[in-house]
Amino acid sequence: HKYVYDFAEGNKELKDLLGGKGANLAEMTNLGLPVPPGFTITTEACKAYLATGREPDGLADQIEAHLESLEREMGRRLGDPDDPLLVSVRSGAKFSMPGMMETVLNVGLNDRSVVGLSAQAGGNDRFAWDSYRRLIQMFGKTVCEVPGEEFEHALDEAKRAKGTKNDLDLDADDLRGLVDAYKKIFAKHTGREFPQEPREQLDLAIRAVFESWNAERAVLYRRQERIPADLGTAVNVVSMVFGNLGPDSGTGVAFTRDPASGAQGIYGDYLANAQGEDVVAGIRNTVPLQELEQLDKKSYDELLDIMARLEGHYRDLCDIEFTIERGKLWMLQTRVGKRTAAAAFVIAGQLVDEGLIDLDEALHRVNGAQLAQLMFPRFRLDHDFQPVAKGIGASPGAASGKVVFTSARAVELAAEGEAVILVRRETNPDDLNGMIAAQGILTSRGGKTSHAAVVARGMGKTCVSGADELDVDVPAKRFTVGGHTVVEGDVVSIDGTTGKVYLGEVPVMPSEVVQYFEGSLDPEHIDNALVRAVHRIMGHADARRRLLVRTNADTGADAARARRFGAEGIGLCRTEHMFLGDRRELVERLILARTDDERESALAALLPLQRADFEEIFREMDGLPVTVRLIDPPLHEFLPPLEQLAVNVAVAQERGEDVAQEEALLAAVRRMHEENPMLGLRGVRLGLVIPGLFAMQVRAIAEAAVTVTRAGAVARPEIMVPLVGAVQELETVRAEAEKIIAEVVGDSGVEVLIGTMIEVPRAALTAGQIAEAAQFFSFGTNDLTQMGWGFSRDDVEGAFFWRYLELGIFGISPFESIDREGVGRLVRIAAEEGRAARPELKLGVCGEHGGDPDSVHFFHEVGLDYVSCSPFRVPVARLEAGRAAV
Ligand code: PEP
Ligand code: MG
Repeated sequence: HKYVYDFAEGNKELKDLLGGKGANLAEMTNLGLPVPPGFTITTEACKAYLATGREPDGLADQIEAHLESLEREMGRRLGDPDDPLLVSVRSGAKFSMPGMMETVLNVGLNDRSVVGLSAQAGGNDRFAWDSYRRLIQMFGKTVCEVPGEEFEHALDEAKRAKGTKNDLDLDADDLRGLVDAYKKIFAKHTGREFPQEPREQLDLAIRAVFESWNAERAVLYRRQERIPADLGTAVNVVSMVFGNLGPDSGTGVAFTRDPASGAQGIYGDYLANAQGEDVVAGIRNTVPLQELEQLDKKSYDELLDIMARLEGHYRDLCDIEFTIERGKLWMLQTRVGKRTAAAAFVIAGQLVDEGLIDLDEALHRVNGAQLAQLMFPRFRLDHDFQPVAKGIGASPGAASGKVVFTSARAVELAAEGEAVILVRRETNPDDLNGMIAAQGILTSRGGKTSHAAVVARGMGKTCVSGADELDVDVPAKRFTVGGHTVVEGDVVSIDGTTGKVYLGEVPVMPSEVVQYFEGSLDPEHIDNALVRAVHRIMGHADARRRLLVRTNADTGADAARARRFGAEGIGLCRTEHMFLGDRRELVERLILARTDDERESALAALLPLQRADFEEIFREMDGLPVTVRLIDPPLHEFLPPLEQLAVNVAVAQERGEDVAQEEALLAAVRRMHEENPMLGLRGVRLGLVIPGLFAMQVRAIAEAAVTVTRAGAVARPEIMVPLVGAVQELETVRAEAEKIIAEVVGDSGVEVLIGTMIEVPRAALTAGQIAEAAQFFSFGTNDLTQMGWGFSRDDVEGAFFWRYLELGIFGISPFESIDREGVGRLVRIAAEEGRAARPELKLGVCGEHGGDPDSVHFFHEVGLDYVSCSPFRVPVARLEAGRAAV
């Protein structure tokens, strides 16, 4: 079994085996770039070690062989007292897990080779002893779990003794003293001397990197980023190059384009006379990379040249780490760089212009989540507020408001019209009302799957979680951060995309991307790289996608907006929303009707109102299909709540008032009370039980279609029956509807389709039969998830999903992204059996999943004709449908 690869043996495709860093070091080596020689131990070796607790057979020998060849190449032996080869031992998993795992530098140094290193460095004792103390520190901390602070304290102590705050003021003798102090710390905590044998240092460091895969923070990070737990890490053993050998040495990081905006140029930081860890630790301030041109023109030019080559080779933004050792440039790492959502679009567009990628590839370089981010209002870029803390961007958006610490106070202040930010250590289900009332939620604990994060995303509320610099004191109603104390009523601003927290009110600007979709920014005539890139990529997505995208809209205004956003019809018009407001009284009359006459007169009053609603929508959607769903929710939702009514009646009776009418209402409410209303009298069941209700709606739809058509527009109504579980239900409703339609449309030329939702598991499983009576199916994946899992959709997310996410039972709420194996399977069965029974059957989805990126790919795969989603999600669905098709 081959466990060790020389850099020259790998390539960038081997990330599974060599990890990201190893694969890219190999790629650069083979491109002829100056990479310090080395080798990579595979993730397989790591997995074998983690499974058995010991290095797999053959690994030690393979390491020996590769080390020997490295020594030959370098002309030095590891830890040689006179002229030592030193190596770094670096972790590198398939997915980058920044700072989560371990690195040990300067392996090979000991009491004797430190002298040889000094000689190598031209008699630079200071450098040699500094390198040695770094090894003991890193090795102690990462390999032997010596508390890092102890080394820090010893270093501070040495500086204090010297009367300085700057590491560079410590001379060789100071550092030699520090090495002694470090060795004592090491021995105290490990019960042994610091290992002097170079090969033992190497083996222990490799083992520590293997083990760091299961370090607590790495496990947490993976869970949060949804990185599988069983990949293991590779280990890179790289010959050391030194950026701390003097002013002609240094270290830096660079991006081939700006990872924030995507703009072309030179972006990076450089630190002279330093090692990489100094940059990360922020010990000294870096200078912009451009300044390297003055310091070392030759290296600078070579670096720019390499950056251009890497971009051309990877055909993408690369980020790199490099070191200059006495005027010689070395590449320590490269990878395709992370970037903001805006930069992703801009760079994809640029790369197409540069001929490096085609538009199909550009589609793969962006995604719907990024587009959704770009559609939120955000803080203006030109503000000069400084963040006081940074947590996890748990739910995007930009929110400012007065700080409150309890749910009750949030509700109170919000009722007074104040914008509030609810600040908690972490939220729990009792905070739900406060979360609803708040503009945004800020917690000091918890990650992307914490209660706060999950619930906020579900509500589309801005949320920053896990801002652990915040010290939140709920009883005292204040938090402290970086020396500031923030009390209830103070204003803060939170950015749910970046996780940044600001004191005061940061000004907000509307999203340019939304303005573009709205039609108020013309991409051809403005100088805005982002809008132009979005325009271009969306155009390609539209050209490529097979899925149509419709919208869920119940008002003319929503329909019009969605149409501007690119909706190709309405996939769900929920008619119950049209029964609210002042019309509630009419519905009440309908429900309370004791005679046919009373009921018919209530329906007759509703008919023209409904008709007017539909006319408006048909006009807005002129020429496009409009799926109108007959009323779905249990009727008691339109009546006052039982408890409140009972109290009112009792109080009125007490006062001796005439309560006959209220009593009738109360009796009706009691009669209609259901323990499980979502499983009760709703959907098609209402249509079968309440005479005339569906008929009124069908008539309103047909009449509106005729009116609009006579006025010169094209109405394409599709009547949809909710909650059908058996074909007989649909047949009954359909027979009645067809009579009315025939009577109303006459020779107007209007064509009305009749179809059903598939949202009850039984409907999915008998779809073949149901298709006989339906011209279309629309999957109601909200109810299908509710009934498929038996999860009450109104209760569970805030109540206990955080625990399910924590346990990994699912990685994302099944109400947010379709559960492919379970609920998705029901969809697949119904699509197949429905189509088999009726090949021209139209298939769509109108549950929330219709706007979820992953789910859109699933619906593409199962062959639906369209997805339907809220207006704001329409562009996201268009983009993802395009991505699914290429
Ligand atoms: C559904 O159940 O997925 C659906 C679209 O209907 P509603 O959300 O109105 O129940
Ligand atoms: Mg439903």
